[in-house]
Amino acid sequence: MIRVAVLFPELLGTYGDGGNGLVVSDRARRRGIQASLEHVGLGDELPEADLYLLGGGEDGPQRLAADLLRASSLASRVNDGGAHVVAVCAGLQILGSSFSVEGDDEYEGLGLVDVATRRGERRSVGELAVRVGADLLVGFENHGGLTTLASGVSPLGNVVKGRGNDGALDGYRTSNIWATYAHGPVLAMNPWFADLVLGAVVGEELEPLATVADRLYRERCSVLGR
Ligand code: GLN
Repeated sequence: MIRVAVLFPELLGTYGDGGNGLVVSDRARRRGIQASLEHVGLGDELPEADLYLLGGGEDGPQRLAADLLRASSLASRVNDGGAHVVAVCAGLQILGSSFSVEGDDEYEGLGLVDVATRRGERRSVGELAVRVGADLLVGFENHGGLTTLASGVSPLGNVVKGRGNDGALDGYRTSNIWATYAHGPVLAMNPWFADLVLGAVVGEELEPLATVADRLYRERCSVLGR
């Protein structure tokens, strides 16, 4: 049984990133693994979960989400409880040490990972493709942040198309956190990534699934010439 929690979809769900929760729980159930899916709203207590999902959001809602998450048990559940997190865009910025996307004011992040986001000179809008080991992660991005990883922090992958963190790298990766600038929802557009996360959460290697999403992913890659 795995417990999946989508955090504050009203604040961090502008691009349908809540769909990541549906995808990961559905891919678990198709393999006979029981999965519960909870949407955590404003004012709700943070539930115990094996996987927390954070999506993207506009600057104002992002600051409110950061305030709520700083006051929650998320950091200790991830640091000490071994919970996993997939964070997209605003979610990626919130888990870092600081972000300043609205004007030049700097806001405190959760400090789970040593990364800082400042405001870039222009927004990054468009297709995003990222090489992650032997795989290609595809999606789209729309953000004003420019994210810098401290030395020793691993990126999720290398940008093939688009901007990601800084034009070269996208996201970051720790033993139990995956962060990317890719919307899509990213786990719907990249079934291999959904399975990477699911496999880590359940602690086993998963057999491939033959779904429409898997076929569409291969078609997108062939359009990109990969
Ligand atoms: N508000 C953040 C930025 O513009 C994140 C945007 C998003 O999540 N798409 O950088």
